[in-house]
Amino acid sequence: MAINPPNLSNPLIISAAVVGSWPTKEQNPGVPITEDEIAAAAVECAEAGAAIVHIHVRDESGRVTGDLERYARVQKAIREFGSDVLVNLSTSGGVGRASDEQRVGIAALRPDIASFDAGSLNFGHTVFLNPPALLDRLAAELANHNVKPEIECFEPGHVANALRLIDEGKLTAPFWFQFVLGVRGGSPGTPQQLLHMLEMIPDGALWSVCGIGRAQLPLGMMAIAMGGHVRTGFEDNLFYHKGELATSNAQLVARLVRIATEAGRPVATPSEAREMLGIRGR
Ligand code: ZN
Repeated sequence: MAINPPNLSNPLIISAAVVGSWPTKEQNPGVPITEDEIAAAAVECAEAGAAIVHIHVRDESGRVTGDLERYARVQKAIREFGSDVLVNLSTSGGVGRASDEQRVGIAALRPDIASFDAGSLNFGHTVFLNPPALLDRLAAELANHNVKPEIECFEPGHVANALRLIDEGKLTAPFWFQFVLGVRGGSPGTPQQLLHMLEMIPDGALWSVCGIGRAQLPLGMMAIAMGGHVRTGFEDNLFYHKGELATSNAQLVARLVRIATEAGRPVATPSEAREMLGIRGR
């Protein structure tokens, strides 16, 4: 993608990743764990300005699970709040905690968006496996059910994988890339890494950045300044400032809304985000 002068009139799509696979209430009491808590956190983020909520689910012991019934109930609860926020369900399976059937089975739940992790990597102390055959299968199922893949790239090799799938017609425009930077095992959360990966994606693709931990706010501000989009939330970062826990996911969303507003970037409503991403309402 050519790096053009930033278009600040481009509405900013804020994604809120409210729970993820790993955070616990011991780390931050605001982390939502039960289905009700996850749905409520998602709705609160939508009210604060998020156009997309990114969802994982936990079992009764609080561990991440690929249980499709839980996913379905949380998605239903969010929609029943009457919010038209876009629902993005994780297909990551919590890095080894879900079967391939469960991971691919997300497509049939027909969320607006589903994560599509475009390659394997070391992930903290484990390995996050996304083999080519699984990606082919997942891409086909998401296309069958008309679910927009969020192409998550943790390092430049994942962008190259995605470009191959695009060339093969397995991923189709408009493309929605999420650069996840700062995972231990992936690309560091630095401006240079973001720029490098941005230069690789096709012209016209939409992109968002999700910095892990202390990289979250600076990379988010960089995306706001560059005309890209941004993800926040407890999946990626539990702190508001160094040493100060965030009180809720919505608090992190509200900060991005204020920064964007000060920068002259309008914040995208869910319906604007649908339009931009070519996603019809359910
Ligand atoms: Zn996730």
